[in-house]
Amino acid sequence: MAWDFETEPDYQRKLDWADEFVREEVEPLDQLWGQDTFVPRDETKRKILEPLKDEVKRQDLWATHLGPELGGQGHGQLKLALLNEILGRSPWASHVFGCQAPDTGNAEIIAHYGTPRQKKQYLQPLLDGELFSSYSMTEPHAGADPTQFTTRAVKDGDGWVINGWKYFSSNAKTASFLIVMAVTDPEVSAYQGMSMFLVPTDTPGVHIERNVGLFGEPVNEGFHALIHYEDVRVPGDALLGGEGKAFAVAQTRLGGGRIHHAMRTIGLAQKALDMMCERALSRHTQGSRLADKQFVQGYIADSYAQLVQFRLFVLHTAWKIDKYNDYRKVRKDIATAKIVMPTVLHDVAWRAMQVHGALGVTNEMPFFRMIHGAGVLGLADGPTEVHKVTVAKQVLRDYQPAPDQWPSEWLPRKQAAAKAKFAELLEHEVGNL
Ligand SMILES: Cc1cc2nc3c(=O)[nH]c(=O)nc-3n(C[C@H](O)[C@H](O)[C@H](O)COP(=O)(O)OP(=O)(O)OC[C@H]3O[C@@H](n4cnc5c(N)ncnc54)[C@H](O)[C@@H]3O)c2cc1C
Repeated sequence: MAWDFETEPDYQRKLDWADEFVREEVEPLDQLWGQDTFVPRDETKRKILEPLKDEVKRQDLWATHLGPELGGQGHGQLKLALLNEILGRSPWASHVFGCQAPDTGNAEIIAHYGTPRQKKQYLQPLLDGELFSSYSMTEPHAGADPTQFTTRAVKDGDGWVINGWKYFSSNAKTASFLIVMAVTDPEVSAYQGMSMFLVPTDTPGVHIERNVGLFGEPVNEGFHALIHYEDVRVPGDALLGGEGKAFAVAQTRLGGGRIHHAMRTIGLAQKALDMMCERALSRHTQGSRLADKQFVQGYIADSYAQLVQFRLFVLHTAWKIDKYNDYRKVRKDIATAKIVMPTVLHDVAWRAMQVHGALGVTNEMPFFRMIHGAGVLGLADGPTEVHKVTVAKQVLRDYQPAPDQWPSEWLPRKQAAAKAKFAELLEHEVGNL
């Protein structure tokens, strides 16, 4: 019977190696370069990064989400989950291991729907970390509701002309290409009338109007672009997956992308818990260690409980993805992981910050960044509320309305049914009295 929580010894050895490698070799990069993972690499960065990537490749841990035909190991999602929770500690780690979002999802789209020319030009360099990509779907007036998108692509000879505005296209300013969702047929429902296009960023008419920054970043020097597409001409083969197939193409990247974020979030929340425990054991106040105070013990126990539940759920979801090889069959689970992850990271990081006292809220500790990151996780790839709606709808599919005005578990009816079922024996019992 296949029901086992052990990791194969060979892979466990690789995970142990990865854990030490990330702590010793990769986390220092976070101190040198911060979150600037999508800035083009200069000579110094390359000199530091390339040997690290080579080491990862030697360990057969490069791009493990991809099959061997694309240069990965084909380890599948469960093994990736075990690796990603190690990588989640550090923003640079997924770059060093060739599995950084959003490039992984965009690579999957090109692998599925790209022409041989597009694959040659973009896919391999993307997988090699030589170039970056951007996903351009959200619009300034509408994000969570894609049926309101208005960016339009119109046929023009053999190609298409795109006009409209997109917002929060992450990393567009350093990306070589954008994957753009546009309305191709406004007469039908959005689900049949939108298509996906591959647009090189240097195509005339692609205007990055602003580079929106997140909290703490300088104004207009961030990584989330407001883009005006003005008469952007692309050839016919820029259309990915066929006309009207935008949602099917989007699912190729979003399903995987969301669960990969969840996997990495485990690692980040674990890092916060580690810091909380270290502080609890180190700090003395009012006659005892923080670790001896029941409030703090409560923080630790609650954090551990939340994290362990989340981790098991994510691992189980990853196992299901490998088993079914069909994201539609795990949509409910992926959406559930998506709605839980901001809360888990927020709660654990917040408690860890509190236990560190004043030091916790300074820019000398990483807690506020984590908490801000939890806020981002509740929005990027769709707001929590929308995913809750998805989960509820999927859960409700397995239920029927009650047979009449009384719930099926209404006790008077159940008692009457139980008595009727055993009436003969019960009568006999009464007779024996
Ligand atoms: C860091 C970051 C990176 C991002 N990267 C990208 C990217 O690379 N490409 C891209 O295209 N987009 C990207 N996004 C955009 C992201 O997908 C949108 O922010 C998200 O879909 C929400 O859209 P919105 O911001 O327009 O909010 P709105 O759609 O205006 O929603 C605002 C709020 O309204 C509530 N709400 C919305 N819908 C419902 C509902 N049905 N039921 C109940 N409440 C609801 C929620 O509280 C929601 O947060 C990114 C966002 C962030 C924060």
